[in-house]
Amino acid sequence: MEIDIQNVSMTYSNGKQALQHLNLSLKTPSLIGLLGPNGAGKSTLCRTITGLYRSMGTVQIDGEYLKRKRRTKKSFFVQQGADYQLYAPTVEDEFLIGRKASPELRQAALARLCEMGLEPFADRHPASLSGGQKQRIAVARALIRSKPILILDEGTSAIDRQTAHDIENRLLKLQDLTLITVTHHLDEDLLKKYDKILYMENGYIKEEGAFESLISVPSRFAAYFQLKK
Ligand code: ADP
Ligand code: MG
Repeated sequence: MEIDIQNVSMTYSNGKQALQHLNLSLKTPSLIGLLGPNGAGKSTLCRTITGLYRSMGTVQIDGEYLKRKRRTKKSFFVQQGADYQLYAPTVEDEFLIGRKASPELRQAALARLCEMGLEPFADRHPASLSGGQKQRIAVARALIRSKPILILDEGTSAIDRQTAHDIENRLLKLQDLTLITVTHHLDEDLLKKYDKILYMENGYIKEEGAFESLISVPSRFAAYFQLKK
């Protein structure tokens, strides 16, 4: 199965062309790292894959065409810089919004909370959490939805480096998950675990391949990676 992107372009109302005729095929499940400088089009590509944006061209996920401006049910998207609105009285309840809170579900929610190191906060009011903790809730909430595709657009940016590393590492081990991660933390150990790195600049996917293959030649990605280090 695959995510298949054909001739996708996206122009914002101010005329900025953020994606330029992208053609891309990503196996599902697989682990994808989406990298590149600010303004490259990473967030725009994420929003296109989730169906949030109307774009030219076609996006197919496991054989199903995305309808324009309709969110696909196949993916869960933790958006960049999102101000997570948490409404429930406690962190634990936050996971169960809109669902019948069966004992099994509560158990599963608690397990995810533990995985994200949020256990101590289970009884706290979500408003009392830091940005990083809210981000962790967003990721955990995504996991409990068990969608086949999880897209994290700088989804761990507000979390301290060590915790972010641990979370990403854990996500990379999940079976049957297509993970698309946009990150500025260029951690070699983690990057090696991705099946594919997509390197974007100016609305183009300039390079794609495994970390080792991109870094072992004088690629644009290699230059970017050195610069960031
Ligand atoms: P990245 O996530 O790689 O930093 P974005 O996808 O956010 O890049 O942005 C790609 C380009 O589109 C940038 O030049 C950015 O300024 C522009 N852009 C992003 N969002 C909007 C918007 N809502 N309206 C107009 N231009 C936008
Ligand atoms: Mg972005």
